[in-house]
Amino acid sequence: MIIGIPREVVAGETRVSMVPSLVQNIVRDKHDVIVERGAGTRASFPDESYVKAGAKVANTAAEVYRKANIILKVQSPAKSSRKLESDLFMSGATYIGFLQPLSSATVISSFLKRKVTGFSMEYIPRITRAQSMDALSSMATVAGYKAVLLATEKLGKMFPLLMTAAGTVPPATVLVLGAGVAGLQAIATAKRLGAKVEAFDPRPAVMEQVKSLGASFVEMEMPEDAETKGGYAKELSPEFIKKEHEAIAARLPKVNVVITTAQVFGKRAPLLITKAMVKQMPPGSVIVDLAAEQGGNCEWTKAGTTVVKDGVSIVGAVNLPASIPVDASQMYSRNVYNLLKLLYPKPDATPDFNDEVVKGACITRDGAIVNEQVKNSLQKKGAKK
Ligand code: NAD
Repeated sequence: MIIGIPREVVAGETRVSMVPSLVQNIVRDKHDVIVERGAGTRASFPDESYVKAGAKVANTAAEVYRKANIILKVQSPAKSSRKLESDLFMSGATYIGFLQPLSSATVISSFLKRKVTGFSMEYIPRITRAQSMDALSSMATVAGYKAVLLATEKLGKMFPLLMTAAGTVPPATVLVLGAGVAGLQAIATAKRLGAKVEAFDPRPAVMEQVKSLGASFVEMEMPEDAETKGGYAKELSPEFIKKEHEAIAARLPKVNVVITTAQVFGKRAPLLITKAMVKQMPPGSVIVDLAAEQGGNCEWTKAGTTVVKDGVSIVGAVNLPASIPVDASQMYSRNVYNLLKLLYPKPDATPDFNDEVVKGACITRDGAIVNEQVKNSLQKKGAKK
C-alpha cells in the first residue's frame, strides 16, 4: 500500500494525520508513505523527521493524491486552491479521517463517483475493543484541558487558594456542565490548578467519576432513563431541563467560571444557560462553551468568537485540539494507526467489512453509502432541498 499524508487545508487546522514516530511503524509494517511538504510543520514535525522515519516527501498535494491508495486526513476533504480535495482521489482509493458525512454531501457524492472507501473516525463504535481508535475521546480530552486554560486567560483572578503576606486569595469556583470525556478532563485540569470545582451530568454513572476527581456533584433529582444503550445521554424532557436551569441558576451568582460540554448525539446541544441566567453571574466571570458548534449550551454563545454580555465573557470554543497540535496530532495518529492495523493486519490483507468496528466506521464503499443512518439523513436533507 502507498499511504498518503496531505497537508490539512481547512483554515486554522494545525494538526497532521500521522506523526513521524508512527510513520516509522507504518514503514516497518511494509507500506510506503508519501507526505506532502510541510504537512507536519504547524504541529512541529518538520519534513526531515518524516524522511528520517522512512517517508518520501512530495512537493504538491496532487502528487500525494495521485500516488496514494490510502489517504490519512484529520479534516473532511475541503476546497484547496479552488479544487475540492475529494476530486483528487484515485479511483478506488481509501480515505480515513473525520469525514463528517452529514455536512459533507458534495464530498460524499465525489467519493461515490470515484468509488472511494471512506472511513469516518467519528463513527468508530464506542465499545471497549475500539477504545484505542476512539479519536472523539482523544480530541475531547485535549479540548477539555484547553477549555480550562482559556478560562484562566480570560478570568481576572487566579485559580488556587493562596495565603500570602498580602492576604488570602480565595480559590476560583468552577462549574462544569456535562461530565463526559471533555468535562472530566476539564474537572481534572481545574482541580490541578487549585480551583473549587462542582459538576453536573444527567447520566447516573458519572456522579462517582466526578467525585473521584475531587469535585462535588450538583445534587438534584436525576432524570429516569437518561442514557442510551451505547452510554450516551438521551435528549431530556423540558420539565427536567427546567429543573436543571433552577439548579444551575442557584449556583451562578457564586461561580467564576462555567465550562459547558453538554451534548446529545445527533441533536442540538441542550440550552443550559439562558440570557437571563448570565445576568446573575458576577462581572468578570467566564463561560467556555465546548458545545458551540452544536448550537451552544449558553444562549449568548457564538461559535468561533468571544462575546461579552453583562460583564461575562462567553467563549464559543471551536476546534480547540488544533490549538495544541503536538499532542493532539500524536493522539490522533495513534488512533488512526490502530485503525489501519485493524484494517490491514498484513500488508496484503483486505479489510473485514463484517467486523463491527470496520463496519461501523465505513461510510462509503464501491460507489454506495453503506451506513444506513448516514444514507437516510442525506436522503432526507436532499429531499428537503
Ligand atoms: P458527549 O460529548 O456526547 O456529551 C458530553 C456530555 O454531556 C455527556 O456526558 C452527556 O451525558 C452530557 N449531557 C447531555 N445532556 C446534558 C444536560 N442536559 N446537562 C448536563 N450534561 C448533559 O459525550 P462523550 O464525552 O463523547 O461521551 C459520553 C459517554 O460515552 C462516556 O462518558 C462513556 O459513557 C461513553 N463512551 C464510551 C467509550 C468506550 O467505551 N469506548 C468511549 C467514549 C465514550
